[in-house]
Parts: sequence; C-alpha cells; structure tokens
Amino acid sequence: MFTKTDEKYGYDGELGAIYSSDKTEFKVWAPEAAAARVQLYKSCRDETPYRRLPMEKGRDGVWRKTAFGDLNGTYYTYVMTYDGIEQEAVDIYARSAGVNGAMGMIIDTKACDPAGWDKQDYVKLEKYTDACIYELHVRDFSIDKSGNFCYKGRFLAFIEKGLVNAAGDSIGIDHIKELGVTHVHLMPCFDFSTVDESDVHRPQFNWGYDPQNYNVPEGSYSTDPFDGKARVAEFKRLVYALHKEGIGVVMDVVYNHTAATADSNFNKIYPKYYYRLWGENGEYFSNGSGCGNEFATERKMARKFIIDSLCYWAKEYKIDGFRFDLMGLYDKETLNLIAQKLKEINPNVLLYGEGWTGGDSPLEWDMRAMKLNARSTPDLAFFSDDFRDTVKGNNFENRDKGYVNGATGNEEYVKEVLCGRIPHPQIPNLTQFSWTDTPAQTVNYAEAHDNLTLWDKLYYTNSTDSIEKRIRMDKMAAAMVFLAQGIPFIQAGQEFLRSKPFPGGTAFDHNSYKSPDAINSLKWNRKSEYKDVFEYYKGLIAFRKAHSAFRMCDKDEIGEKMKYIDRLPQRVVGFVLYGDNEFEETVVFFNPNDCPVTLHAFGSYGVYIDGEKAGVVPMRTVEGDYEMDGLSTMVLGRVRADLSEEKVYDAPATD
Ligand code: CA
Repeated sequence: MFTKTDEKYGYDGELGAIYSSDKTEFKVWAPEAAAARVQLYKSCRDETPYRRLPMEKGRDGVWRKTAFGDLNGTYYTYVMTYDGIEQEAVDIYARSAGVNGAMGMIIDTKACDPAGWDKQDYVKLEKYTDACIYELHVRDFSIDKSGNFCYKGRFLAFIEKGLVNAAGDSIGIDHIKELGVTHVHLMPCFDFSTVDESDVHRPQFNWGYDPQNYNVPEGSYSTDPFDGKARVAEFKRLVYALHKEGIGVVMDVVYNHTAATADSNFNKIYPKYYYRLWGENGEYFSNGSGCGNEFATERKMARKFIIDSLCYWAKEYKIDGFRFDLMGLYDKETLNLIAQKLKEINPNVLLYGEGWTGGDSPLEWDMRAMKLNARSTPDLAFFSDDFRDTVKGNNFENRDKGYVNGATGNEEYVKEVLCGRIPHPQIPNLTQFSWTDTPAQTVNYAEAHDNLTLWDKLYYTNSTDSIEKRIRMDKMAAAMVFLAQGIPFIQAGQEFLRSKPFPGGTAFDHNSYKSPDAINSLKWNRKSEYKDVFEYYKGLIAFRKAHSAFRMCDKDEIGEKMKYIDRLPQRVVGFVLYGDNEFEETVVFFNPNDCPVTLHAFGSYGVYIDGEKAGVVPMRTVEGDYEMDGLSTMVLGRVRADLSEEKVYDAPATD
C-alpha cells in the first residue's frame, strides 16, 4: 500500500513549526520538491513577508530551517517549488492560523492554557456503553436570542453559567449538565473554509465539513479571528468548562477529504501524494467523499498526518473522543493504529464514526472501515443506521414509517437493534445480518445533524395525528435509544423536540449544512414549552446510568442475561434483563399500538418508566394483570433481595 516514495523517504519524527522561546525549527516533508522556503509575517494582514528563509532538504525528504529568537505569535507560510513554479502554502502541521486560515502561526500553545488547566484530566469512561453522547454545533448552541449569551456563536459561550431562558429554566452548559449526558460531541471545530472569518458579524453558517487546517481551531468561533492565539486559548477554555462539569468532549474530525483539492495545502506541499487518484497515470482525483477528493489514509505520511493530528488534539486540548466522518474511506489498519496510539495517551478515549462512504472509492472493499467490517476494527464504534431506520422509518423517505410511528411487521428487526446488532440466540433468522459481537461498537440514535430531526420526521409521517400523540412517539423513540444495548446518542435539542422548519412551518430542512441560524439554532424557550419531554429524556439518562444491565458489552453475556418475551400482544416487544447492579429482574416493554394492552406481572415490580415519566424512583408498583398505555414504554424493576432491606428509592445525588 505504501508508495515508492514512502519506502524511500518515510519519516517518523516531528513535523511543523516546533517552537521554543529561543528558536523555532521548521520541518516540512516534501521529498520531490525542487526548493522550499519559510516566509515570516508580523501580522496576518501583511501582504509581504518580513523574512524569507531558504530551507534545506535532508535525505529523509524533510526540508528544514531553524530561525533563532522568540517567534511566538509570528505568522508563516511555506513556498514550495515544483516544475519551476512556486506556490505558497500553509503548513499542514500549523497549530494556529491567521484570519481565514491563510497563514500558519508559530505559537507557544502552553501560554494559551487557562488557569488550572494542568489540574484537570480526561473524563473517566470505563466502557463505551457507559457513554451518553450529545451532538452539538458550536454556533447553534448560543446564537439564538432566546439564549441571551454574551459570546453568541463563540467557543466562550460554554463558559457562561447561570443563564436562563424566558421561563427561568437553565440553558447552555447548565442545561447540558442538568440533562445528564456524559459526552458533548462537537461538530467540526477545526478550521474549516466556508465561513468568512474576516466578517463574522455578518450571519454565516456552515456545519464545517470542509476542512482547511486540521490542527487549528476554527477562527469564526473565536473572539478575534485575526489573532491566532485567541482561537487556541478559547477552545481550551471550552474544553475546560465541560471537564469541570465532568463532561467529556468529543471532536467530530473529517480527515477523509479536504475542502480544496488541487489547490489545497496538502497538494501544494506535495502534489497528489495525499489523495487517492484514478486514471491511467493517476491524473484524476477520486471522490469517495462526494466532496471532490478523498484522503489516501493508507499512505505512510498521510496516515502519519492523521495520527499526529489526533494525538495532538488529545494531548494539547485534552479531547476525550473522536467521531470520524465517512469512516468507510479510512483503511482499517489506519484506524486500528489510531486507536492504539490514542489509548496510549488516554485509555478512556471514545472512538466512533460513520461506517460508510459518500461515493465510490478505489479503496478495496475489505480494507474499508465499513460497518459490515466492524469486527476487524474492534476499538471503533459505528452509527447504527439500522437502529435509526427501524425506529422511525427510512431516513431518506420523508413519509416512510418505523416502529414508533406506525410501521407494522418489523418487530423482529426491533429485537435485532435493541440488542445492539449482535447475534442473539432468540433471533436466529437474523443473526447473519449482525455486524458486531459487542454493543460497545454500536451507536444507537434516532436523530443526528444529518436529515430530518426526529420531531420533523414525525410531522411528515404522522401529520394528521395530534401533537400529543407525536410526543408519545418521540418519547418511545428516545426510550428505545436509552434502553437498547449499545451507545446512546442524541442531537442537541432533541430533548425539547428540535425542529428545523422552513419559513411557513409546514416543510422542514433535511440538510441544513448551510441554512441560516433561524433554522439551525437551538431555541432555548422550547425547553420550557416541552418541559415534560425534557424531563423524560433526563429521566431516561439517569435511569440508564443507574442500571448496569443496559450497558453490557459482550454477546455471550447478553445472550444469557437479555431474554425476549414471547407471546406478547401484537406488535409489542419486550425483554427481561438479569444481572443488573440493583434489580433482580428488569422488564422492558414497547407498545407501538395506538391502544392500551393488558400485561401480566408475576410478582410485584416497581414502575420506573412509562409513557409519561421516566426516572430512578418507582412511580407505583404492579402485580398480576395491569394495563400498558398505547404508544408507550414501560420499565419494571424488582430490587434484588440483598439490596431491598437497605434500598433504596432515594434518587442518587445529582453530582
Ligand atoms: Ca475557518
């Protein structure tokens, strides 16, 4: 897989502008360049450099130059020569950048640490299934006027505590803490290209899947995009603010493609090396991302770049986990190396991604980190689109229905997704389709930034049903996410029925990647408007965190301790869990019928979750025949005999 260049020139050392207070060493790998030089700029507004420093090439293909003196805060570029043509490029290893990422910055990153930074650490995560993930876009979080943030749309909005909405309910970071999620997954925070950082007061929006400088935080989220130190210091403050609340930070990373292709920094520094190509002489860029190119992860120095970049974020910013966009474009070996290196830095690191591509790729099928190859990348979890579509209907057909909103006859698929896509002895006909042996590889979700929100989907599938009825469907979908084996994942605002309506309110945005704030932003007053829904999600999260039986990791253990219940009323799916930390038996039912059903309890059980409420304290007990509401979830628990004396219906302390 490595090219001849790799064999001849592969390099294992540090690259970039390596700063110390008395000198900076520049190192760029470009074995076939005819010449290279560093250009230094006092300001990112300058058009001409104040110094030009020719570099010298070593036998390892690395061009080097040492500049003496303290260059902290100085901007720089490289000028590379190929075929007699000079091109100016930003160092792909640059740690910060000027406005719009057009120049790199030499930076003393340690000087950007917030006070107390060294005293904090990664969040603890014993196993992946202990995580509850909350997917959030930095701008969406704070840009709406209902939020009342000082730092609207900026990293620093995460340090703002004590804010409330119009009804007095907590918002912002206090809200995330109250909800109880373990990890905030931030949509792209590295420097992306579409938003014009020189004009941030003009409303502009993009999700950020258009990478420009991978090791640099996005400038439009900082208070001063013209000062490369601001973005570094402020992103660290965001991470620290979440860590102080005990919440981990996952970065959404997009190494599978770059925003620019022929004129990207990678291509200017070493033309064509970093990309997969096709054509007789490799004259075309392949496009497995659907974004114009795809990164050649299998090449030695491309792989090294990704690993170096991830390790940098993990060490320098104490990032707790990474979400890989279009992971099907990564070769499996690279991902396994990534996992190995990151675990050496932080054994609790959380890694997951999209097990598919965005188009056809020359990467051979069995080398790709696809969902169906999951077993060969055991430290990576995969989004379960099977779960998503089974629960609410096909993602790409607005009106297609799933289990909670009216589909019939898919109960066996529901069982298959509830156990985390592992083979389960009670569903033998479907086990051939299972793609993992551990739910630690399965991310269960009903809503993410892509496609319709769950609430909008329910509008399309059930527009003639009342809001109350659709809320019941939403709650059931959420209960399935948090009560299934696997890693639960929600999109921010899902807990208060997030919606992305076009003006008029009867059509909804299923691809809001560059839609205005009015569509994308979190509307914080909805938290109070749908307080009951918020409380339900919060209760589900608390319940899941309190009960180990929902967080198993092994297929044999699940085969033994998770038993589906036969002979239930039509369409009802139920299972019993054994071996919980608190319950002798935990019984879970989902009733997607519009009408109530009668069930029978052999003994006395506490009801912890029903169609109305969810939590860690039993609302009532049932014994013998009892009724279960239509469109609802029920969770019954019987406290273990050895605990029942001392136990225990006190809610755990919230901190
Ligand atoms: Ca940018």
